Amino acid sequence: MKFTKIVAATTALMVSATMGMAQQQFVSIGTGGVTGVYYPTGGAICRLVNKNRKEHGIRCSVESTGGSIYNINTLRAGELEFGVAQSDWQYHAYNGTSKFKDAGAFKDLRAVFSVHAEPVTILARRDSGIKNITDIPGKRFNIGNDGSGTQGTWQVIEETMGWKRSDLALATKMKSAETAGALCDGKIDGYFWLVGHPSGLTQETVASCDAVIVPAVSDEITALVAEKPYYRKATIPGGMYPGNPDDITTFGVGATFVTSAKVPEEAVYQVAKAVLGNLDAFRKLHPAFANLKAEEMIRDSLSAPLHDGAIRAYKELGLMD
Ligand code: GLU
Repeated sequence: MKFTKIVAATTALMVSATMGMAQQQFVSIGTGGVTGVYYPTGGAICRLVNKNRKEHGIRCSVESTGGSIYNINTLRAGELEFGVAQSDWQYHAYNGTSKFKDAGAFKDLRAVFSVHAEPVTILARRDSGIKNITDIPGKRFNIGNDGSGTQGTWQVIEETMGWKRSDLALATKMKSAETAGALCDGKIDGYFWLVGHPSGLTQETVASCDAVIVPAVSDEITALVAEKPYYRKATIPGGMYPGNPDDITTFGVGATFVTSAKVPEEAVYQVAKAVLGNLDAFRKLHPAFANLKAEEMIRDSLSAPLHDGAIRAYKELGLMD
């Protein structure tokens, strides 16, 4: 009798566990290097999604990746459900231009919302002689790891400025997390990336050696920003990092959160609702989110269409008609 009861109880438990599992859906967010802002962005999104896991059955997890271009390609291959990507690469992926010319337009790419601004951020040792973007030729410089939006945008900068890769004394492709050490050890003179502020890596760099953020100012860049809808003028505020008291004039893109039309509407709806429906909580999860505004997040920097699940969430939240 006792034995039968235990078997019955165990079977009931197993059945409910199996039923629970059948309802569960796993979603992964592709981000960037762990000292960047994409990685904590994915973490913040998952935190809000997982809070209501019991109700909707979606379990969200974050992957550290090579960055924007890797995330878009992996989304296209169906191996990620969501990714963070620079607005310039969202634009090119959806339209099949620039780096995405060979792969062709990714018409199933869908926007969910935009997040923080990502200015072109050039870090150099104070003694390197790099005082502006125009001083980079002849230097040892990290142009971003393969798969990063950063490296893609470096190629655009090279074309815009009329530079060849061989104009650099050394072009390295280290991951972002390795660049602070390389700069402060004197292995490179500078590095560059597109990142939100404040960012962990920038903080680490200026705390480890005498490094400065330098401007990206030139006539060619002014013309580029005027011509392309996905670039805009940007300023890195003075005083945000020790030893860097002045505002830095540069240009940049927006970080965006994207998915694929193949990802079920319900999953995208729940993720979009978790963030835009709890924006006050989201803003507190990273200082780069402090000034986010709902109406801008659902509109700005997005060139792919919004996913149907996101539209449903925004209508329900009264953000869209
Ligand atoms: N924008 C960068 C890239 O795609 C990543 C920045 C970050 O990790 O915060 O290369």
